[in-house]
Amino acid sequence: MMSQEALGGSDGAADNHAPIHPAEVGTHSFEQEFTLNLLSSDGDRLDQIEAALEKISEGSYGSCEECGGRIPKARLEIIPDTPYCVKCASRLEG
Ligand SMILES: [Zn+2]
Repeated sequence: MMSQEALGGSDGAADNHAPIHPAEVGTHSFEQEFTLNLLSSDGDRLDQIEAALEKISEGSYGSCEECGGRIPKARLEIIPDTPYCVKCASRLEG
């Protein structure tokens, strides 16, 4: 991020990769990011990951299976294959 400014040659941020806006969840770049997160995940969560990939193809990725609410992107970044929002996950866990 900082290197763009350090180079000093750019005449603006227009050509730089724009930060992902919350409203853009589900866009191409988000899916790329999601895939990168998956690649760093453990293999023993494959079932959940496959379910998440299925949701992406269905267009329902990011929705809580329990309450249907939107799962915050910050949570998805930490647990990209979670099927539940924070509230439901904590309720189901205990
Ligand atoms: Zn929920």
